[in-house]
Amino acid sequence: MITFKNVSKQYTTGTYAVKSFNAVIKKGEFFVIIGPSGSGKTTVLKMINRLIELSDGTIFINDQKISEYDIHELRWNIGYVLQQIALFPNMSIEENIAVVPELKKWSREKTKQRVDELLEMVGLKPDIYRKRRPDELSGGQQQRIGVIRALAADPEMVLMDEPFSALDPITREKLQDDLLDLQQSINKTIVFVTHDMQEALKLGDRICIMNQGEIVQIGTPDEILMHPANDFVKDFVGGQERLTDERLNLEKIVRQMEYTEEGSFETVPVSTSLQEVLSKLEHHDHIFAERDGQIIGAIDRKGIIQYLAHHMQKRGSANE
Ligand code: ADP
Repeated sequence: MITFKNVSKQYTTGTYAVKSFNAVIKKGEFFVIIGPSGSGKTTVLKMINRLIELSDGTIFINDQKISEYDIHELRWNIGYVLQQIALFPNMSIEENIAVVPELKKWSREKTKQRVDELLEMVGLKPDIYRKRRPDELSGGQQQRIGVIRALAADPEMVLMDEPFSALDPITREKLQDDLLDLQQSINKTIVFVTHDMQEALKLGDRICIMNQGEIVQIGTPDEILMHPANDFVKDFVGGQERLTDERLNLEKIVRQMEYTEEGSFETVPVSTSLQEVLSKLEHHDHIFAERDGQIIGAIDRKGIIQYLAHHMQKRGSANE
């Protein structure tokens, strides 16, 4: 758990990069920070692992002030992934992944096992990739290594600063999917910075929207879509019109959902708009869609948000 209490960062120039930031990031949560360029996102992230010192306030990790941790221990226990692929060019993939385990003095056997396990986890065959150099991998593969390197020593949390923004749209979407799958199995606390709303909607359990160093709104993707705090959020999020777009229908989502009779029995026609369904889902975990009096499947909030984010991404990449 990461707690921010009145955290500010002011530079000698007088500028507040971050002002009175208050938030609690829960254990196992995927927390996305989004905002325009210069809004303070990276500063928030770097204050967590003490790459930037706070000017005011306190950050706690598991109820202990970050200033009270040994700085090396703190950094080894927080994975960090950057936009720029920062692999060491003269080291093999195996050596790159093993950096923190070696600092932590893991045995060779344990480290080797961990490297193989991580490579398998992101679909790269250890026998093929272990000994390669970074320049023998594609950009997307290198970024995958960047992600698993951050996970190597099994840190409690991972900070990610626009990790996919330098990648082409297809690779990017693939890596987002991989990260979601990975998060399901490893259940780490992830703090993820992006300026891309589709990415935020797709990945975040909660989204923190920043502007000019301050938090404008923190909420789940559907809260932010359905109840934007003000016009800034509304404009920034976009997508509201998509909620009522008749071309986006529930049919696709219900097919992907597992049918369950647990929870609510409320049903809606499959032609209902996403907006209406989302507002019903404020009171239910699931609702059911029906066509011609037949229930064709269940729908939940996550399903709608993922579908919407996917659709926004497709259109975004086509410059529509
Ligand atoms: P973001 O990640 O949202 O793009 P940053 O956290 O990088 O924003 O920066 C927030 C603000 O702090 C910006 O206005 C930036 O110009 C300012 N800033 C960052 N580093 C410094 C610095 N070393 N000195 C003065 N101002 C800085």
